[in-house]
Amino acid sequence: MVKSFMTKETDNRFVLIGGTLIDGEGGNPIRDAAVLVAGNRIEEAGRRDAVNIPSDAGIVDVAGKFILPGLIDVHVHYQGWMGELFLAHGVTTVKDMGNDVEWISRVAGEINGGETRGPRIVYVGNGLDAPPPFREHHVGLESSDAARRAVRLLSEHGASAIKVREKITPGLLAAVCEAAHELGIPVTGHLGHTNAREAALAGIDGLEHATGVVEATAEHSKPAEPGLNDVQQFIAELKAFALIDLEKAEDLIGLLVERDVALIPTLSTWWRMASHRREQFAVEDAEYTRIPELKYLPEFIRQFLAASFIFNVADEDDSRQIAAGYEKIRRVIRRHAELGGRVLAGSDTIYAVPGLSLIRELVVMTDAGFSPMEAIVMGTRDNARFIGRGESLGTIAAGKIADIVVTAADPLEHIANLQSVEMIFKDGSEVDRNYNPDYGISTAAPNLTRPLWLERRLQDTA
Ligand SMILES: [Zn+2]
Repeated sequence: MVKSFMTKETDNRFVLIGGTLIDGEGGNPIRDAAVLVAGNRIEEAGRRDAVNIPSDAGIVDVAGKFILPGLIDVHVHYQGWMGELFLAHGVTTVKDMGNDVEWISRVAGEINGGETRGPRIVYVGNGLDAPPPFREHHVGLESSDAARRAVRLLSEHGASAIKVREKITPGLLAAVCEAAHELGIPVTGHLGHTNAREAALAGIDGLEHATGVVEATAEHSKPAEPGLNDVQQFIAELKAFALIDLEKAEDLIGLLVERDVALIPTLSTWWRMASHRREQFAVEDAEYTRIPELKYLPEFIRQFLAASFIFNVADEDDSRQIAAGYEKIRRVIRRHAELGGRVLAGSDTIYAVPGLSLIRELVVMTDAGFSPMEAIVMGTRDNARFIGRGESLGTIAAGKIADIVVTAADPLEHIANLQSVEMIFKDGSEVDRNYNPDYGISTAAPNLTRPLWLERRLQDTA
């Protein structure tokens, strides 16, 4: 087979030949295609008879198969055990949305430097919030000046985007956006206090989980429910989506599109309990706990996958309101896309099977009315652009980095056919799709003792 191309030599040159090319741009697929790879780059791609195939290039016959760009997930919470699973499902790049910057920068260095197998990682570092910080890796900003300094410090530490959190105020958000945009990096948020309209006006670039839409359009404001645990809080948040006034949303969506604010609805995690695929997902997840080579799954993940417990809502009234919320948010994202706005694919992988999670996000996007081709473009080209890597990743074209997925079945027929992955290339090298029982990263677990690195640096520079 193609094991001989698993080399890192720069003279590594091979051609994938005879498959159907779905290049990530959204145009008609190209049958009987050829994709020529040299080193870590795609040298040429197109119809077989239009590609110059050097005589010394290795031939990889992919007749009857489908060639796509490596998948990109723009919302994950990376943990050390996840790398092989992302790769094995064809996800070659991830954007980490929730880790201490000191830790994730080291993990990204370890994997991006080739020391350990895993997807290419880009990251936001610590979530920025109004004080006091809500989770252990979030950092509270005492002033607009602190906001600007925090953005610069994160950027210097390799963050390629900034994430703001639930309690951020419009004023702090404006300072964050101004500083980030000066550095050429985008800002996205998991909002709460600031609504989507205020956030758009403050300059935000993306709304994670489509948060802030309820607060900007609800008929009644969401009643405060103190004393809820995390799962109850989550259910309350989902139920609130049922309050969206779709007429008012029309105005909001117009503003979001005008300001080019992307929606990253993370449907497959947030709305899994409302999806008709809930049972099927639970069965699939449980199967992963029986794969002997995955003995390295952390125990809490194993338990979670075995039972999918948070996706079973006991209360009928809760279920009904969540179903109504799901329908509302699906209409909002469809309308956003119809008006020319960007809807992007993020899985919010925390307790999910990494990689399968992104494929599911694309599957439920098609449930929401997007075509399989639109879903593929979201998970490749559009996501690449959103993470600032549109020049090098996300499509199969001359000059791009050779991140390539080959599937046995046609994802344009059923998007879930992305699960029929047969070959994956990252940086021009074929990825070993086997799970290694000893898999792990060498970077130690994050040390989240306060003050965190960012807090210390903010104090030093005050
Ligand atoms: Zn998340």
